[in-house]
Amino acid sequence: MSRTAEPGADKRIDGRAFAAGLRERVARAVSTVSETHGFTPGLAVVLVGEDPASQVYVRNKGKQTVETGMRSVEHRLDASTDQDTLLKLIADLNADDAVDGILVQLPLPEQIDAQAVLDAIEPAKDVDGFHVINAGRLATGGAALVPCTPLGCLLLLQDRLGDLSGKHAVVVGRSNIVGKPMAQLLLGANATVTIAHSRTADLPAMCRQADILVAAVGRPEMVRGDWIKTGATVIDVGINRVPAPEKGDGKTRLVGDVAFDEALAVAGAITPVPGGVGPMTIACLLRNTVEAACRRRGVTLPEM
Ligand code: NDP
Repeated sequence: MSRTAEPGADKRIDGRAFAAGLRERVARAVSTVSETHGFTPGLAVVLVGEDPASQVYVRNKGKQTVETGMRSVEHRLDASTDQDTLLKLIADLNADDAVDGILVQLPLPEQIDAQAVLDAIEPAKDVDGFHVINAGRLATGGAALVPCTPLGCLLLLQDRLGDLSGKHAVVVGRSNIVGKPMAQLLLGANATVTIAHSRTADLPAMCRQADILVAAVGRPEMVRGDWIKTGATVIDVGINRVPAPEKGDGKTRLVGDVAFDEALAVAGAITPVPGGVGPMTIACLLRNTVEAACRRRGVTLPEM
């Protein structure tokens, strides 16, 4: 008996599969640099406090770092840690030649100024790409370490569409960690870019102009099917937990910023939530760590 594919299956952009492929390429690059140049890239992750979601992220980052053949170091600090103690740890990691990448898991407790901490990270080791130097390099077309989530979105888009030249991309959201760097990356890839946000007039009409629509808002299923141009490529960055009474009392499920079923009927391609952009973030972190390691040591970055 022949099996029929799920309707719209060919429109779903499989971020899990792409991220798995990227991790394999990262692992090959790690083994190449280790054989050719005799070093193993190392990532240090700093977690302050016991936020449950952050603990899961940090565990996954450490596990995947080791699985790709790199060294992983975790620094877990008490929730009451003061800013000076954290800055001292960052200074030590900056000075440690065995550490190629430093990631401070956000959010930080309220007694700590997160921007001051991010700005204390040596830009060459800033694998999250949040340092103002890397943001400035990205904006001016320099060699930057690029924030992982928007980098993952760009890789998915290029894999699906090839050359993005001349396409109109609308990015909904202007945060420093997703919306703005996403827009810069799309501009760098020769798309024509519009950035929309909470003050944009007639957001649905703006979205309907998009060949590429990136939603990075944090509002469950805000983007409806009739906001999407027929055939557009939709990248849903949003991760929102909503009640799921159908699963039982008190249960929840994850949804994106896009109403998926409505969008699937109109779009040419779309990332699901979960399983779209989410898995790309850690894979890009690993890629950035190899890139940082090679750049710091002045060796050619293997193809990834
Ligand atoms: P922020 O809250 O920092 O930014 C949200 C942006 O959305 C702001 O620019 C805001 O506009 C805009 N916005 C809010 N409401 C509206 C509205 N009604 N209409 C239009 N624009 C609106 O969020 P982040 O950028 O950090 O994250 C966005 C989403 O992406 C979240 O769901 C987050 O969980 C998810 N995320 C997912 C990651 C992944 O790995 N897949 C990684 C990082 C984030 P304004 O500036 O005007 O306030």
